[in-house]
Amino acid sequence: MPGELIRCPHCGQTNRVPTAAAGKPQCGKCHEPLPWIADADDSTFGEVAEAARIPVIVDLWAPWCGPCRMVSPALERLATDLAGKVKLVKVNVDVSPRLSQRFGAQAIPTLLVLRGGQVTARQTGAAPLAALRSWVNKALATPAP
Ligand SMILES: [Zn+2]
Repeated sequence: MPGELIRCPHCGQTNRVPTAAAGKPQCGKCHEPLPWIADADDSTFGEVAEAARIPVIVDLWAPWCGPCRMVSPALERLATDLAGKVKLVKVNVDVSPRLSQRFGAQAIPTLLVLRGGQVTARQTGAAPLAALRSWVNKALATPAP
């Protein structure tokens, strides 16, 4: 998987971050953890999200969804602030009908926290950054099932 180019928030080095990896991405220059943001669909979700060793925030979104466009930057900000602690996986429900059905995403955005492939928290609808941050922090503080 090719992955995305991510600029290190600490030293500015550009790194290629794979969409799936056994550990978690670190900057090749300063070794600080890098924000981990990846896209997944029906065929890659197992590898990208369920197999991740760190908690995963799943953003079920669609290009035509206005509230999704408000939530996505807030989630990317959280993924940057929580680099090394969470992975953000974005799923376009329009091209991922199996995931949409599996997670019952009738309303979007639907946000999930996955730990070891299990859904441990769920939030439907847009929310401001502060509310998302406390939702994620609470989900991360809850022991994995
Ligand atoms: Zn760096």
